Amino acid sequence: MSRIGFIGLGVMGTPMAAHLAAAGHEVSGFDLNADALAKLEAAGGRAANDVADAVSGAEVVVTMLPNHPQVEQVVLAPGGVLDTIAPGTLLADMSTIRPETSIEVAKAGAAKGIRVLDAPVSGGQAGAEQAALSIMVGGDEADFVAAKPVFDALGKTVVHVGPHGAGQVVKAANQLVVGGIYGLVAEAIVLLEASGVDAGTGLDVLAGGLAGSRILELKRKSMVARQFEPGFRIDLHHKDMGIALAAARQSDVALPLTGLVAQLVAAGRAMGYGSLDHSALLKVVEELSGR
Ligand code: NAD
Repeated sequence: MSRIGFIGLGVMGTPMAAHLAAAGHEVSGFDLNADALAKLEAAGGRAANDVADAVSGAEVVVTMLPNHPQVEQVVLAPGGVLDTIAPGTLLADMSTIRPETSIEVAKAGAAKGIRVLDAPVSGGQAGAEQAALSIMVGGDEADFVAAKPVFDALGKTVVHVGPHGAGQVVKAANQLVVGGIYGLVAEAIVLLEASGVDAGTGLDVLAGGLAGSRILELKRKSMVARQFEPGFRIDLHHKDMGIALAAARQSDVALPLTGLVAQLVAAGRAMGYGSLDHSALLKVVEELSGR
């Protein structure tokens, strides 16, 4: 069992830290939000006073933060994670951020003898709560092997996908697929309802056929009922579509459907739906159809 410092106890981090504590690890966590710290204590962890307090003495540090500026602040800034932890410590950044920042963090860690992995996740809030995440890991193979017992307490599909930054590229690919499926499920609902067909019944049939997907399985009922509490906020998906398009530009490839989905997500934000679940792409498609 390890001493684990956990920074970022939001929708995903709270259940993840709780699973690590339940697996017998000694978890010290920090978040700017006091409610999150209370939940960690209720789950058997220790609420730290700040980042340095959470990670000091840790063998493994996990960060689960919104985006790259927060990772830079928590990990790279003076007094942050890299200034506090000892050489040999493993840092797994499980946030979804741009690959360049993951590579920069890995280089800064290597300069101090700290082993860094980018390990973003897929599976949503339900996956975090059920310890059933898919975890895509970039970095050195030996560090992946060392961190795997920690990842195994959080996920069911844990895969080393390549060098530093590769985990983030796989996550970008995941997000463009997820965004595309949500956009098309939204279009299917609008078509069914506009045609006078019960959308719930229609989607039940789709879910059992070739169009069946985890999104249809988990989210079709809440979408048809217009329940859009997050989950995964449109604001975060907007960030991820930006990461995917920037990666496409960097690799000189054309991803026309990704561009289209990115615009739908951007429209959702512009319409004021940024804090709703990304399944609220349905509201965007409805408004485009004047419904
Ligand atoms: P969230 O906003 O619920 O949680 C982020 C937490 O980080 C918040 O509690 C916030 O207070 C904390 N935080 C921000 N800055 C901090 C700082 N400087 N010091 C300490 N704490 C700080 O977000 P989330 O939904 O848990 O997502 C976290 C990451 O996981 C994001 O990169 C997201 O894209 C990714 N992700 C989310 C989901 C999902 O379904 N929500 C699924 C897969 C991946």
